[in-house]
Amino acid sequence: MQASDLFDTALNPSSSPLLGIDLGTTNSLVGVVESGFPILLADEEGSRLTPSAVHYGRDGSVLVGAAALRRRSLEPSRTVTSVKRLIGRRGGEGDWQPPYDLRELGTSPVAVSAEVLKRLKAVAERALEQPVSRAVITVPAYFNDAQRNATKQAGELAGLTVERIVSEPTAAALAYGLDKLADRKKIAVYDLGGGTFDISVLEMREGVFQVLSTAGDTQLGGDDLDRALAAKIAPEGADPARFVEAAEAAKRRLSSEESVRIELPFYDGRNSLSVEVTRAELEKIIRPLVERTRAHCLRALSDAGVKAEELDEVVLVGGSTRIPFVRQHVAQLFGREPNTSQNPDEAVALGAVIQAGILSGSLRNVLLLDVTPLSLGIETFGGLMNVIIPRNTTIPCKAGEMFTNAVANQQDMLIRVLQGERELAKDNWELGRVVVHFPPGAKGSARVGVQFSIDANGILQVLARDTVTGQDTVLEIQNTAVDVDDERVEQMIAESVEHAFEDMNERIWTEAKLKAEELLPSVAAALEQFGDSVTAEERAVIEQAAAEVKVLLEAPVHDAASLKKANAALDDATQELAVRLVEKAMEESLARRGLV
Ligand code: AMP
Repeated sequence: MQASDLFDTALNPSSSPLLGIDLGTTNSLVGVVESGFPILLADEEGSRLTPSAVHYGRDGSVLVGAAALRRRSLEPSRTVTSVKRLIGRRGGEGDWQPPYDLRELGTSPVAVSAEVLKRLKAVAERALEQPVSRAVITVPAYFNDAQRNATKQAGELAGLTVERIVSEPTAAALAYGLDKLADRKKIAVYDLGGGTFDISVLEMREGVFQVLSTAGDTQLGGDDLDRALAAKIAPEGADPARFVEAAEAAKRRLSSEESVRIELPFYDGRNSLSVEVTRAELEKIIRPLVERTRAHCLRALSDAGVKAEELDEVVLVGGSTRIPFVRQHVAQLFGREPNTSQNPDEAVALGAVIQAGILSGSLRNVLLLDVTPLSLGIETFGGLMNVIIPRNTTIPCKAGEMFTNAVANQQDMLIRVLQGERELAKDNWELGRVVVHFPPGAKGSARVGVQFSIDANGILQVLARDTVTGQDTVLEIQNTAVDVDDERVEQMIAESVEHAFEDMNERIWTEAKLKAEELLPSVAAALEQFGDSVTAEERAVIEQAAAEVKVLLEAPVHDAASLKKANAALDDATQELAVRLVEKAMEESLARRGLV
């Protein structure tokens, strides 16, 4: 080997291998494409699963993975698990109360995730016998901007350049479809992991993957099943948290056994627990949780415009899909036996590796098209949501619109960037705001272009440009300022359907109101100026129509349809007046120029 070769592999980042990482709630995996094949890498103990657990010792030591997990029962408050449920979220959000306090431990969700990623990097470097510095990382399809950014930050903190963030079900589909490139198929990926549930409908065609829709619940997974079982087996007065670990082990065994005995001698130093749990009993306990996935599946199908019977395949991903009851539920829901050809723990990681292979050029003929989970837009006149990028748009994408000033001599415009499915701005989430300044002028004289671009990682950038002055304002979305509560992501979609009717009515009302408010003063002004050119009869009709609009506008109950009609009637009534106005103006202008 020559010195120049060494230099190349060690220091040139583009030639260092690109890792694929599944940063899971419960477990994480890392892999790489070697000689054209995606492989997952094992640690020194031969394990490919690294528990996503970090233990912070009193002496300042940090243990990651299996070693950390072994400390959990001894020091639950110093052992951080399922931190993915907290990443990119504001403190105190959500219903999940972890048994540890990150602040007390002097850490953060990003820092904890970085420890797990550092460990995966070390596993890869040991297996590959060379330094690595680049990775593709997967996240749940429902992760918002802040959560994707936080994941990226964690990678950077771990010394990895994150080349791409990929949605987990998309990665799983990639793993599933790689060996079937010639097929044209529609598939659903049902992913029930440790902490999250995702459902995606995808279309695969000649090596192209397109996500047609995604839905899910960021607060539903195996952890919840464990807690439900623990609460059931915990003796009166005992803290159910003590029994979560035993419950999880029993739950796993019940996937292959009909009945198990949970034995915990002297669990608190004095009392012992010995209880028999059957598979049927477990099913009764977890049924309501598993059934919560149903509505999301139906929603994803309807968003994709695909009927269950049109699907070629339903793919199961995530450790919790090993549960026979979950499989039955999916079979019944989609009217077919689900495909279990993938190892549910490894499919996502394998997909991440495949994506890494595509990016680094070692795998060709596959192209990945992902979609945005929620609509993005800005608030416009009257508090309405103006969608710029609709949900389920393929990313990366760019879209924009031109806006103008609503009143004369306005000098700036506040642009509120919103995410959500509701018609009214106030019902959606504000991602950030930016003020654009422009020279004062007449109404409609300003020209502000607003452009949204979402990169391949699903991260949003907003650019506002005053096209008159050429001045650009770029909106930096502050990660921590994103006021998004995860549960509300699903709630948002559910509510947008529930309120579709009222929302639409409110939108029509607002539009009609804006129109009426514009119409009334201009009609009044015209009557005052040119009133002598209409007959008394015409005048009465116009005044009557204007009065009608006014009454509806001021009515306590918003009757959008009637206001719209009244506006149209007023428009009609003033037609003659408008024609005469134009004629008169022309006459005057011609007269001024001495032509008549
Ligand atoms: P994942 O996030 O995909 O790694 O899934 C982890 C979840 O799968 C945890 O909640 C595990 O308890 C659960 N799990 C793993 N294996 C089994 C099994 N054989 N039966 C039931 N649940 C399992």
